[in-house]
Amino acid sequence: KPVILTCAQSTGKLHLGNYLGAIRNWVSYQEGYECFFGIVDMHAITVPYNPSELRKSSLDCIAQYIACGLDPAKCSLFLQSHVIGHTELAWVLGCLTPLGRLERMTQFKDKSRKQQDEGSAGFIGSGLLTYPVLMAADILLYNADRVPVGEDQKQHLELTRDIATKFNETYSPTFKVPEIDIPKQGARVMSLQNPQSKMSKSDPNQAGSIYLLDEPAVIRKKFQSAVTDSDPDRRISADKQDSGIPNLLEILSAVSGKSIEALEGEFSGASYADFKGAVADAVVDLFEPIQAKYKAISQDKSELNRVLKAGADSAQKRAYKTMSKVYRKAGFVERI
Ligand code: ATP
Ligand code: MG
Repeated sequence: KPVILTCAQSTGKLHLGNYLGAIRNWVSYQEGYECFFGIVDMHAITVPYNPSELRKSSLDCIAQYIACGLDPAKCSLFLQSHVIGHTELAWVLGCLTPLGRLERMTQFKDKSRKQQDEGSAGFIGSGLLTYPVLMAADILLYNADRVPVGEDQKQHLELTRDIATKFNETYSPTFKVPEIDIPKQGARVMSLQNPQSKMSKSDPNQAGSIYLLDEPAVIRKKFQSAVTDSDPDRRISADKQDSGIPNLLEILSAVSGKSIEALEGEFSGASYADFKGAVADAVVDLFEPIQAKYKAISQDKSELNRVLKAGADSAQKRAYKTMSKVYRKAGFVERI
């Protein structure tokens, strides 16, 4: 089976965009691929953070993914810090990565600028710069064929491909050069409060995001207060580009499987309030079983530990194979 690898940071709460744009696709990949899903907790310490919150959110994140349908029996769910090899491989790859390339990465420029502005007294750890090398290691350690990511991760994936090629040329063919896999549908769910920017974990305005664990009443309230327009023409139409209507139609279409045109027909003549109510109902129904499953799993600490141990064991097996090869090619003496 071809290998799929995908990684997610454990910081922040999962939202409707994460679900429709990413997690839902990951769930469908479990059938045809050998899947490795890593929670990349080591990436989380590249910016200021709180250790006890990190520990809590890493476990919480795993519980949410299982609740969404990632099945520990069909894929390896693991924490990056549990598998030996990620940082080791990152070191070797870092020695092949030009410094200037890292300094030019968009995410580094954004995040380092933000840190300078946000009172870390100008401190920028070198981990923020070498982050993309660790990410390349996360992927190449499993010799993945495909990596499903959002548009925002494209630049990091291109670097990963170049690093793989550089290693293969410097030593000998070792790594598959992984395919970048960006979804066509649900790839960009917008904020309910600002339809011009995407729904985001790091958006401080929580009213703009529907979180996976929001209570039904909260979900309904957020949809009712979603920004639409003040157009006297109250049509529900996807071509009202400057309003929040196309985003609400996209969401309902992605959740219900009905086409945008069918929905425009179904809601012609409906009030905005009724339309928003229908979108809210669909999302409440979508999240209800996920929330129930989450409640059950998150209370079962021993089951979570079992999942993490099994995931780490199978990931470690594959990682170990890669690392023996890499160390041998790099010229290190075999450890007896
Ligand atoms: P942050 O704002 O901190 O970057 P995020 O909301 O973008 O957080 P990530 O953890 O970066 O969330 O992304 C997890 C996955 O969800 C990625 O594959 C990403 O492409 C996808 N994703 C994130 N936001 C959206 C969105 N609004 N619509 C569709 N997919 C999204
Ligand atoms: Mg993001």
